[in-house]
Amino acid sequence: MKLYLDPGHGGTDPGAQGNGLNEKDVTLDIALKLRTILLNQYENIDIKMSRTSDITKGLTERTNEANSWGADYYLAIHINAGGGTGYEDYIYSGLSDTSTSAKYQDIIHAEVLKLNGLTDRGQKKANFHVLRESHMPALLSENGFIDNTHDAGLMKQSSWRQNVAQGHANGLAKAFNLPKKAVDPGTGTLYKVIAGSFQSRENADDRVTYLSSKGIDSFVDTVTISGKIWYRVQAGAYGNRANADDRLNELKQVGITDAFIIAE
Ligand SMILES: [Zn+2]
Repeated sequence: MKLYLDPGHGGTDPGAQGNGLNEKDVTLDIALKLRTILLNQYENIDIKMSRTSDITKGLTERTNEANSWGADYYLAIHINAGGGTGYEDYIYSGLSDTSTSAKYQDIIHAEVLKLNGLTDRGQKKANFHVLRESHMPALLSENGFIDNTHDAGLMKQSSWRQNVAQGHANGLAKAFNLPKKAVDPGTGTLYKVIAGSFQSRENADDRVTYLSSKGIDSFVDTVTISGKIWYRVQAGAYGNRANADDRLNELKQVGITDAFIIAE
């Protein structure tokens, strides 16, 4: 399943603003957390993100990218504003309630609400660019109101953003029948192959670009160790230690000598 994951706004477009927050930052953090959850916990999922950092990118560029990549699903993450409170999501206004997009909306809507602690504003339809111009089923979620003190208070908590990401992950897994990644049956361990760990985000991004040029998929995850943020390039997660070792050798063959395996 190919997911095009689109954190709304970015760069010169901050999106909605309120309570000291910019929409673009909250959407990016939720989307990055969602990617990590999906890649660590599920098989058969390939993710392309419209952005993984604070860059400016037009709506047409985003939908063109999703269309030419041949995504199976388009998920846009947004934050609301304008004097309300709660959660709502949208499919394209031209679609019926029995469309594939509507069926996925039913599932994801329910799963997100189980974990986000927000009131339910309902499943809606709108003529938004990303919903209309994407050639695959699509959903845009509006995760609380940035100009509402209660909702913004939640947005400021990393644990809330993690829950919102987990809710979307649970919905996607259910909608697309994603198989859970097998963990080591004896120990319940997942072996993550880390192709370098950096204190500079830029160096981590460079590593991802290099690996991609060698045909190896990876992504940047962040961990905090003794109060310091590390940007960890993850190039696979396996329930089987031997598969993780194979991946490690593959990395060594393309010149990555600082790769290692962590068991979680
Ligand atoms: Zn928005």
